[in-house]
Amino acid sequence: MVETVSVDVTLPWLAAPLQRALREQRSHALLVHGPSGVGQFELALGLAQGWLCEVESSPASPSPLRPCGRCAACHLVGARSHPDLLVLVPEALRAALGWEPDADADDSADKASKAKPSKDIKVESVRAAVAFAQTTSARGRGKAVVLHPAERMNGISANTLLKTLEEPPGNARFVLSSGAPDALLPTIRSRCQAITITLPETDIAIEWLRGHGVADPAVLLAAAGGQPQDALAWSREGIDAAQWSQLPALVRRGAAAGVSGWPLPRLIESLQKLCHDALCMAAGAAPRYFPVASLKGAARVVDGAATQPLHAWERELRRAARFAEHPWNAGLLAESLIEQGRSALDSVHSRA
Ligand SMILES: [Zn+2]
Repeated sequence: MVETVSVDVTLPWLAAPLQRALREQRSHALLVHGPSGVGQFELALGLAQGWLCEVESSPASPSPLRPCGRCAACHLVGARSHPDLLVLVPEALRAALGWEPDADADDSADKASKAKPSKDIKVESVRAAVAFAQTTSARGRGKAVVLHPAERMNGISANTLLKTLEEPPGNARFVLSSGAPDALLPTIRSRCQAITITLPETDIAIEWLRGHGVADPAVLLAAAGGQPQDALAWSREGIDAAQWSQLPALVRRGAAAGVSGWPLPRLIESLQKLCHDALCMAAGAAPRYFPVASLKGAARVVDGAATQPLHAWERELRRAARFAEHPWNAGLLAESLIEQGRSALDSVHSRA
C-alpha cells in the first residue's frame, strides 16, 4: 500500500532540485516556493525526509544519497508515522496530499470542526508544531516540521511561528512551502532560506503524465501552463485534451451547454486562458495554453479598437474569479461569461 518513499520516484523532476537544496541549505528554516502544481509539498517533504534519513556512510559510499528511501526512518516517513516529523496542512488539503486526517500529532484542536474541513492553517496547529519542535528527538536526528501551504496561515498563526523561526530550538528544522510567497509576511520570508522550484522540463512532465494514464498529455500540460500536477488534476476532473481543444470553437458558438459539467472555478480559469491566447493571436504572438489549430480564424489585428471587447471580457473574468467559489447562480454566470466571450472573439475574428 505504502509506495516507495523517495520523492524522486514520485515526481521525477524533483530529484535534482532536492539534492541541490539538501546540499545548499544552511538555515534551520527553508521556504520552498515556485509556481503551484509542480510539487512544492513533495519537495518540502523530501527535504524533511533527507534530514531524518538514517542511511550510514560506508567506504563504498562515503556520502550516501539522502533520502535513501530504504532505511527505517525513510519507511516511517513513507508510512506517515515518523515520530520526529510533523506535517501541518489544512484539513481540506490532507486527503489530496495523501495525508489523512488526524495523522498529525497533537492536532486535537481541529477535531471540533469536523463538519467543514478548514482551508486555513490554524493558530492551534501552529502552537502544537512549535511545542513539537521543542521536544526531544525520538530517533536522534532532530525534529522536522513541514508546513504547507504557508500562505494559509493568518496573521496570528504567522506571528506564532515567527518567534520560533527567529530562535529555532536546537535540533528542530522547519520547511515551509508556498505557491504564493508574496502573500507571506515579509518577516516570515526574511527568516527562511529560499529554495526556488521551477517548471519541469516539458519532456519529463509529459512522460510523467503519460505514466498516470493521461492521453495526449502535451495538450493538457500546455493547458495547465506547464504545471504537471495541475494537468493531472484537470484530467481527474474529467477534462481531457479533446475537450480542451474544442473550447475555443464552443465559445465562438456561444454553446454554454457544452461545458455545463465543468466546475465553475475551472471554467473561469479556462476562459481567462482563452482570452489570453486570443489577445496573443491578435498581437501576432504565439498562444500559450491552446493548440494553434484550435484557435483557427483568429488572426493578427491591427485595429486596436477590435481588441477592446477582449480586454473588457478579461476584466469581467477576473471579477468573476473572485466569487467563483460562492456564485449566486453558477449556470447563469457561466452562460453570461461565455456570451461575452463569444462576442469578444467575434470582434477580433470578423475584422481580421
Ligand atoms: Zn533513508
